[in-house]
Amino acid sequence: MSYTSRTQTAISDARTDDATYLTLQSCPACVWPVSVKAPTCPQCGHPINAYKSSATMVLVFGVLSLLLPMYGVVFGGLAWGFGNREVRGIDAGLRVASGRTKARVGRVLGVIGTVFWSGVFFLFVVAMASSGY
Ligand SMILES: [Zn+2]
Repeated sequence: MSYTSRTQTAISDARTDDATYLTLQSCPACVWPVSVKAPTCPQCGHPINAYKSSATMVLVFGVLSLLLPMYGVVFGGLAWGFGNREVRGIDAGLRVASGRTKARVGRVLGVIGTVFWSGVFFLFVVAMASSGY
């Protein structure tokens, strides 16, 4: 890759990230305005983005748990577990706070998926048993 095309890639990357970089949140430790992309608070060094947010993954797992009968319980359990971890991490100021709603929605979907498909499986087993097989 030539120097020019690399530079252009870097510039277009910076452009797509601009909006996110400009989104500010207040530092959980000192209330200083910090970019949501910053790894630590420039004022006090408190970790802001120290751990990558898994909120989107939690939401995807939650949706999958509702859509996939075979793996609903698996994805539901993953969304449930990762969702708990994500929300706790956000509350402790260790994860990107903007993912909180996504993580909570994903966790709720995961709980619904887990309970629903467990119920379906249970009824299926009961139906099989009562039909004499
Ligand atoms: Zn700070």
